[in-house]
Amino acid sequence: MAPPIYTSSFPDVTIANTSIFTHVLAARAIGDIGGFPGSKRAFIDAATGTSITRAELLNLSLSFGYGIWNHPVTAPFTARGATALIYSPNSLAWPVVLFGCVAAGLRVTVANHAYVGRELAFQYGDSGARLVFTAEEGIETVRAMFSELGIARDEGDRRTVVLGRDLRWAGGPAADLRSECSGLVTLPDLLVRGKLEREEQFDGALAHETAFLCYSSGTTGKPKGVETTHQNMTTILDVCRPLFLEVRSGNGTTLGILPFYHIYGLALLLHLPLTLGWAVIIQSQFDPIQFCAAIERFKVPFPFIVPPVLVVFARHPAVDNYDLSSLQYMLSAAAPLGADLVKQVKTRLLSKRPPGATCSITQGYGLTETTTGTHMLLFRDADRKVGSVGTLCANLEARIVHDEDGTVDTEEGAPGELWVRGKTIMKGYLNNANATTNSITPDGWFKTGDIVVRDKDTFFYVVDRKKELIKYKVCPRRMPGQRHSFIHSLANSTIHHIQGFQVYLSIVPPAELESVLLTHPDIADAAVIGIESREQATELPRCALSLCSTKKILNEIQTVAQKTAFAQGIIKWMESRVAKHKLLRGGVAIVDAVPKSAAGKILRRELRELAKQETTLG
Ligand code: AMP
Repeated sequence: MAPPIYTSSFPDVTIANTSIFTHVLAARAIGDIGGFPGSKRAFIDAATGTSITRAELLNLSLSFGYGIWNHPVTAPFTARGATALIYSPNSLAWPVVLFGCVAAGLRVTVANHAYVGRELAFQYGDSGARLVFTAEEGIETVRAMFSELGIARDEGDRRTVVLGRDLRWAGGPAADLRSECSGLVTLPDLLVRGKLEREEQFDGALAHETAFLCYSSGTTGKPKGVETTHQNMTTILDVCRPLFLEVRSGNGTTLGILPFYHIYGLALLLHLPLTLGWAVIIQSQFDPIQFCAAIERFKVPFPFIVPPVLVVFARHPAVDNYDLSSLQYMLSAAAPLGADLVKQVKTRLLSKRPPGATCSITQGYGLTETTTGTHMLLFRDADRKVGSVGTLCANLEARIVHDEDGTVDTEEGAPGELWVRGKTIMKGYLNNANATTNSITPDGWFKTGDIVVRDKDTFFYVVDRKKELIKYKVCPRRMPGQRHSFIHSLANSTIHHIQGFQVYLSIVPPAELESVLLTHPDIADAAVIGIESREQATELPRCALSLCSTKKILNEIQTVAQKTAFAQGIIKWMESRVAKHKLLRGGVAIVDAVPKSAAGKILRRELRELAKQETTLG
């Protein structure tokens, strides 16, 4: 029998067959998109207030493209289809470099600006990049990268372009970095040479060429280059745009705090606002105080966020010191968001506003491999479906699969792995046919690795990530003659046969425990992992938590004995809130901060390493 294939309730959008540059920035589109003029500000630097309009971005990108084609240092590395790497915190230079490279027909790989030389060397080598664009403070790391790769310093410097703090870089590099930058090509050097008449074309079948290479953050395994095509990006923008047009976005500004190197920032901050006529206020890093200050100063109605930002809204003292009344909507994505956290944030923000005021918090779900969102919870559904990632986006199909090879789909309402198919699915993993075949079936289904449930109203809920689910084994019973291990089901509790024993294997979803822990008034942040217990031959749920910096905590939970008592109290506190198999049998560790990526994902691998070294408090 054919598997039940879920389709979107939104009408399909027409698929564009053109370059992403042409789609969002081509001269003819200036003034056309959404009926707003090209003279409207597109990107604003929060620190300096410097801004560029969409028309200026178009011109600067074409000048940049001309510059890298014609500057004697960069010209050898800029043939159509060559790859360039951007390694920089968010800045006003980012959109110019990104769109300039695309205008010149380059593919762009975008790297985490926290990377050290060794990590950067992997991405540079794997992506086949030749040219690097780095912020001035990244030069040393880029040199370390070239050294890792055995490339001489002079040669490395010839492949490096330095981006300043702003486009014009008046006054040149910061005093302490002047000697580092000397002799290197800089962004202003590239902008003054001339201008491309028009961008490189990627029409028809060429729209399937790779435009961007993000490296999938994957909490396990080596990062892989995700090939995002021009058509992947044009499609996601056309799919998302109508959903955001529904929102009355106040003064039409959003905040650019999410890293531009992650697909979420790349698509929804560097591209989507250009199609909506919104201005992006760029901040180079997330700092709770600067973040609140920018909301107040720019009267931001709609920031794109990740769950840790909501933890700030729920708990951080800075929230009380700024006027955040402009906030009308927030879209969270990239990591699980518990319903309780949403409620806490709304209660705190709305407590300072007149009765009847609203602030709608919703979420989207997707992956680097799906060019961001496959699901989105519309603002109109936010209150009745708190905790859901919404319904399937346009132009996509979905299955919820029960077993590894996709021969059995789950029954309505039962959890299973989400598979999706459509035009926003990546072309594949760069130079990694094996990984591509393992994740995309011959008939085009991409296996997300996430466990989801779909309710009767077609709303999806992410229960957890398949490989992060904790498998807790209870009630071992001898079953003579059984030798092999079979994972029959991903449902909550199943019978497994493991080496002659019949055991009940219970699945513990870390995200669920984390959202319960976050309701505790003294816990600022929490992460749950499974740790191996050899003695009990099972994984045990263990939590790492950070404490709120309230007076009570500063006075009362300081010594090891106090922390141990607190940890034990938390284990006890959980007893009345979760099922028995979900108790924190692996213990509780108190940490200064839960380690997270800039995109808001809990770095579970780090926590596992930590757990190996630590003594447990609980
Ligand atoms: P990345 O490719 O770095 O964007 O990571 C994609 C992964 O982030 C997904 O496979 C999910 O595990 C997780 N993710 C993204 N959005 C959500 C969400 N709204 N709720 C839960 N998990 C999410």
